[in-house]
Amino acid sequence: MLYIVIFGPPGSGKGTQSEKIIEKYGLTHIATGDILRNEIKNGTNLGNTAKEFIDKGQLVPDETIIRMIENKIAEIKNQTKGVIFDGFPRTVDQAIALKDMLADRNEKIKLMLYLEVPRDELIRRLSKRAETSGRTDDTPETIENRLKVYEDITSPVMEFYKQEGTFRCVSKIGAIDEIFIDIEKIIDNL
Ligand code: AMP
Repeated sequence: MLYIVIFGPPGSGKGTQSEKIIEKYGLTHIATGDILRNEIKNGTNLGNTAKEFIDKGQLVPDETIIRMIENKIAEIKNQTKGVIFDGFPRTVDQAIALKDMLADRNEKIKLMLYLEVPRDELIRRLSKRAETSGRTDDTPETIENRLKVYEDITSPVMEFYKQEGTFRCVSKIGAIDEIFIDIEKIIDNL
């Protein structure tokens, strides 16, 4: 099975490119932000806990996220060709936990795909998305906070995957389809 992590700061296009990857390669999408927003919508305990962190642009605690991912991985059917993790792992501890969970299934992350986008472009995209997304965390202060959390806490996850030998970077701003061509080349050569 093909296990991929799509990685990058908020606004880097992880969701958009994930959709294209899923369509072409038949992977299952595990997007922690989407799962949490759904829990909030359904008013679950997990949703109520998560909302406090999300609305401040902070990370939901590792143990909550790791438990949630363990449940999701347990649900994965054998029919799937693999999984793309989107928005996870966001801390080195999450990356270590993911490695252990997959090892229990004799699997591992084959690719960590980093979408590199300059900060001013991220702010431009996130501010534009705020006009239509309806997301309570797309406000100017929260966007700043989320970028800072990314830089301070999440970006070290790249070093973990560099050491694992699975880190690859796509550093292109442009049309969605052009970026996807670079991504296809990387996946097809795995
Ligand atoms: P996203 O949709 O990926 O931008 O996630 C939205 C928010 O959900 C983040 O700003 C965090 O508050 C929370 N979140 C999503 N994924 C994680 C994660 N892996 N670890 C901690 N918090 C997360």
